[in-house]
Amino acid sequence: MMIQSRPGKREIAARILDASGMRRIVSGVRPWSGLQVLNYHRIGVPSSPLADHGVYSATQEEFAAQLAFLSREFEVIRLDQIDEILTGKRKRGVLLTFDDGYRDNYELAYPVLKEYGLSAVFFLTTGFLDNGTLAWWDELAWTVRTSPLSTIPENRWTGAAIAFDEPHRERAIRRLLGIHKQLAWSETPAFRQELRELLKVELPTSDELADVWMTWDMVREMHAGGMEFGGHTVTHPVLANLPVAEQREEIVQSKQRIEAELGSPIQAFSYPVGQHDSFTAETEELLKESGYRFGFSFMAGIGKAHSADWMSLPRYSIELGTPESMFRTAVTLPQLFGR
Ligand SMILES: [Zn+2]
Repeated sequence: MMIQSRPGKREIAARILDASGMRRIVSGVRPWSGLQVLNYHRIGVPSSPLADHGVYSATQEEFAAQLAFLSREFEVIRLDQIDEILTGKRKRGVLLTFDDGYRDNYELAYPVLKEYGLSAVFFLTTGFLDNGTLAWWDELAWTVRTSPLSTIPENRWTGAAIAFDEPHRERAIRRLLGIHKQLAWSETPAFRQELRELLKVELPTSDELADVWMTWDMVREMHAGGMEFGGHTVTHPVLANLPVAEQREEIVQSKQRIEAELGSPIQAFSYPVGQHDSFTAETEELLKESGYRFGFSFMAGIGKAHSADWMSLPRYSIELGTPESMFRTAVTLPQLFGR
């Protein structure tokens, strides 16, 4: 899903629009207005078997080219300026966001943001930072990629056996991630453990897990450098698959944890996974009760003045290997190219 193969029709159209100057002309005729939020996860080149390669959003070079374009053509805003856009006092703005709290955000994204004088919002999964936990999607990728077998044997979760698609086994990984997202949260540890046993894989050692997440010192340094932070739960469950009391704990505890480390309040949250079935109206209520002002989903779109739901603001996912022409055209003409 992230690996670019032959260019599709949309990409070819984007290249033509971009190269011919039509992008600028069309955008001048029909400029978008509202809040356009871009979402990144990891920055860098995927190589480790410890990682779900699907969560890489851009190499550092791709990210730098994207920021160069955005800083030239758009106003990249901070959270405090969202109010003005959603109430119609400001025409539009682009907000940059990162989910999960990976260390490459500090090592590779932060220096580029500083270079361009831009700010971004980083949504942290606090339990990952506190405990160095392996994220469930990275664990499933590790299990599949390091298995000595060539097939997932028949089992109670996937049903029939699944042959690995060598060499990267991406299709098998996507399949397991899809199943994981649908399970009640309480079933997910058994799912991952049984897969490890079936596939004859041990969890990585704590040494191998050492540098995956940001430290709180890094978070504070970035905060002092103008970066903003938000909540993304403690353990990254699909909130809709959790009882309400546990959802509340995930939301409240992560907020308190980040505020304690930063010494200042936070106002934004992004829903883990963030699809329409990943959170509910109750989840949105819990956010409001907890003092959050903005909730971000992972569904594409523009947040429109006067009509956007502040607790379910859309975001465009940026994917590794996106050609520059495609990025420029998609951000300039989201009404045509919004995924
Ligand atoms: Zn996430």
